[in-house]
Amino acid sequence: MQEEKENNQSRRSFLKKSAAAGFTALTAGTALTGDKLLAESNETPRKAILMDNRLCIECQACRVACQNENEIDEEYSFIKFVSKESGEYPDVEYRLRRDSCFHCPDSPCINQCPVDALYKGEGRFTTLEVEECIACGQCQQACPFDIPEIGEERMYKCDACQHLLEQGEEPACVSTCISYALDFGDFEDMLEAGQQRVEEIKDKYPNAELYADYDYGLLLILTDTPTELNLV
Ligand code: SF4
Ligand code: SF4
Ligand code: SF4
Repeated sequence: MQEEKENNQSRRSFLKKSAAAGFTALTAGTALTGDKLLAESNETPRKAILMDNRLCIECQACRVACQNENEIDEEYSFIKFVSKESGEYPDVEYRLRRDSCFHCPDSPCINQCPVDALYKGEGRFTTLEVEECIACGQCQQACPFDIPEIGEERMYKCDACQHLLEQGEEPACVSTCISYALDFGDFEDMLEAGQQRVEEIKDKYPNAELYADYDYGLLLILTDTPTELNLV
């Protein structure tokens, strides 16, 4: 137990805390450690999606694949692209920031749900039991990142394609991304892969970093600071 605690502390010590890509709300997150969450956190190996923003060509194929795979109405989306504008006319630049659920290990949304419709599923991704949801919106209020969307009868949010994970497959967004901007695997493996990718691009991008936060499931490679890239 002591050894596990020390490992966690050393792991956390090299994780970079992030204010990236709309993640300024990280600091507003509440660390919840209810018995239910602790019990669930030991059940299944933690998986993660690593995003390499450098390789993203903003094609939005991942969003479309997600909507098709999960058969969700077009007005809702588990993956959102937020348009960010920088510069002044006529030198205006536009970028898209890709936002989706972070699957926080101590998810505030899970603890706030009054009907226990949210739980940690395969890969420890925060998952919705759709039939249980009463669309009350309490998870939306609790989420530091404003991720859940509330429809008439249910909430909408990424669950990392639980039905695919149960068959040993990757989430649809990952297998669809043609530019390999997305990768999927064990959290620790994705962490290592991210660090390796950053080392490989340091010559070209001296400010490149892997933005990672163990408490929020964040794994993101940026070639410069979030501010320089106009992502915040
Ligand atoms: S499919 Fe890949 S490259 Fe296209 S927007 Fe999604 S993450 Fe970016
Ligand atoms: S909905 Fe929000 S609080 Fe819940 S796991 Fe996703 S990012 Fe975290
Ligand atoms: S909207 Fe659904 S998932 Fe969210 S807190 Fe209410 S019942 Fe739970």
